[in-house]
Amino acid sequence: MDRSKTLEETKAFLENKKKILMDLGVFIMIVVAIFFICLDTKKKAFERDKQIILEKHLSEQDYLVYGANICAPPLRFLDEDGVYKGVVVDYISLLSLELGVEIKTEPYEWEEALWKLKEGETDFCDMFVNEERAKDYIFTDPIYNLRTVLAVKEESKFSFNDINEMKIATEKGDYANYYIEKNFPEADLIFVDNVGEGMDLLLLGQVDAVIGDEPIVSYYIGKKSAQIRMINTALYEEPVVLGMPRKNADLLPIVNHAIRELNKKGQLEKIQQKWFGISTPLKDANGAKKYIRLGIISGGALLILVGIIAASNRSLKKQVRIRTRELEASRNELQLIFDSIPEYILMVDQFGNIVNANKGILEYSGLDRGLCFGQCCDIILNKFAIGYVDIVPVEKDTQDEKMLVKTGKRIYEVKIYRLTEFERGTLITLRDITLDEVNKKQLLQSSKMLAVGQLAAGMAHQIRNPLSIIRMHTYMLRENQNMDETGKKSLRYIDENVQKAGCIIDNVMNFWRVSGNQIETINLSKNFGDIISLHENLLKKKEIEVEIDCDSELWFRCNEEALKHILVNLVSNAIDAMEHLDKLILLGEKVEDGVLIQCIDTGCGIAEENMENLFNPFFTTKELGKGTGLGLFVVYSEVEKLSGTIKVDSKIGEGTCFTIKLPLGEENSDV
Ligand code: ADP
Ligand code: MG
Repeated sequence: MDRSKTLEETKAFLENKKKILMDLGVFIMIVVAIFFICLDTKKKAFERDKQIILEKHLSEQDYLVYGANICAPPLRFLDEDGVYKGVVVDYISLLSLELGVEIKTEPYEWEEALWKLKEGETDFCDMFVNEERAKDYIFTDPIYNLRTVLAVKEESKFSFNDINEMKIATEKGDYANYYIEKNFPEADLIFVDNVGEGMDLLLLGQVDAVIGDEPIVSYYIGKKSAQIRMINTALYEEPVVLGMPRKNADLLPIVNHAIRELNKKGQLEKIQQKWFGISTPLKDANGAKKYIRLGIISGGALLILVGIIAASNRSLKKQVRIRTRELEASRNELQLIFDSIPEYILMVDQFGNIVNANKGILEYSGLDRGLCFGQCCDIILNKFAIGYVDIVPVEKDTQDEKMLVKTGKRIYEVKIYRLTEFERGTLITLRDITLDEVNKKQLLQSSKMLAVGQLAAGMAHQIRNPLSIIRMHTYMLRENQNMDETGKKSLRYIDENVQKAGCIIDNVMNFWRVSGNQIETINLSKNFGDIISLHENLLKKKEIEVEIDCDSELWFRCNEEALKHILVNLVSNAIDAMEHLDKLILLGEKVEDGVLIQCIDTGCGIAEENMENLFNPFFTTKELGKGTGLGLFVVYSEVEKLSGTIKVDSKIGEGTCFTIKLPLGEENSDV
């Protein structure tokens, strides 16, 4: 059926969606797990390699060396007590901790520091990057940014645009020299050992300006003289890296990793705070950027995932709504079909409580749908003279069953279907099979009757011929003048009886005449007469007095065959009930709105306890072979067919009176 298909499809659709979502979830979890496993493996491999490389480098001496210029405060410088310190020296100490290797710091003149690094006598020196240096060194990731500036005398008018005309003191080997020569070729460079020395020359008026890194220049301005100022525009701002000798290339990834770790922990900012009391990063936060990017990507991926789930959820909800509506419509349709089935249907749960009942059974039981649901099914089943105990299976897995129940005038076939799925209980159907049963027996009876009737009619027809010959000959004999009085009397007697035999034959033939269902205008008194003459033999045998109390002109419209069935059965029952010399009265009269017919006998009467079963099919008190128990059932059915009513009054030992009231019947009406 279409509905069950829709239900199946909905189920399959929901299952499918659920499966896809679960698969997606499992897939994401697997990807995340693989990611973390890879990360962990990579970390372990890195640590292993790091140990091997470090061991190789530390085989000759168990420390590394940082060598840079001796006098570049506050980045690095030798203080009055001969301690080499500064921002970068602090940073190198932290790097040493991060690497897990001791790093000694050695102060040199700048040129010497660069030379020692190139020779591999030292391992690190912080510096700007340029093409020249790239030939001699390899570089780590940047550790901080540095601006290079010009310092001039306070009163001088020099600005950034005057560099080409200036005499400038600069540190030997400094990156700035390379930069000035390239960009301001006309500037006059005076080489000094460090910025401090340049400052002295400036104060003496031997140079116009000094080049230096911004923190170093401001350090000297603060320390040496307020007569020096910094030109605001920086020459350049570049990242500072750690330069390493080329032979140490295998150390580079290890050092870079350590620099990244220090960045993550914000160590440079802490050192900066110590030295300058500020927290502006000297270094571009490269690592942070990377994590922000990673965060944005993961956030985006998460958003997309949430979007997919939300969209799929919305479509799922929509589908569920549509399917729910379809199922509701289907349920209503099914209920309609359920209600229109002529059989009575009752559904009960495993405890015998009503789950559903169709319209037919509710109307029959006179119950309200809403009120009886949930109640014990006996409130309905008792109306059919059964109860839930007759329905419940004796064994758990009893198969479907069928049984017959009789309730008064009706016979029902009860079918019981076990609803095994979900332990849902039982479906009970009741079908009125009274007429089927009656028809079955009647068919047998009437086929017998038909044979007898046809035989009787055939015989009657055959007897007519000899009767007419007898009549003709009596007529001829009557013409004989010589016949004496006794002979004439005999002839009259013969004639009378031949006439009577003719009447009997007419009666039998009339009774078996097939009249169909048509309504005719009939005479009640004549019908009474016909029935009596049909039973004349028996009546005579029992010497029963018959009285017909009916106007010979009582005409009304009725189905004559139906009326004959009624009268035949009533009269034959009355004869059966009567003894010698009893009396039978057939009464017929027109009343206000119909015709009243009474069949009264002075027979044995009907016992009180039999009264309620009288019209039930197959109810008989007669011995086997004599009664079928169908007579009064036929009477009842025919009276109903004619839209009439029937009632019985009887007293045991005194007699019985059946009273029937039939409508007058309209002219030209058919049944
Ligand atoms: P049947 O005649 O085959 O027994 P019926 O349906 O005609 O079946 O009658 C049913 C029963 O009603 C009879 O067996 C009899 O006991 C009772 N009965 C019917 N009519 C009379 C009557 N007039 N007097 C007494 N009992 C009657
Ligand atoms: Mg009978």
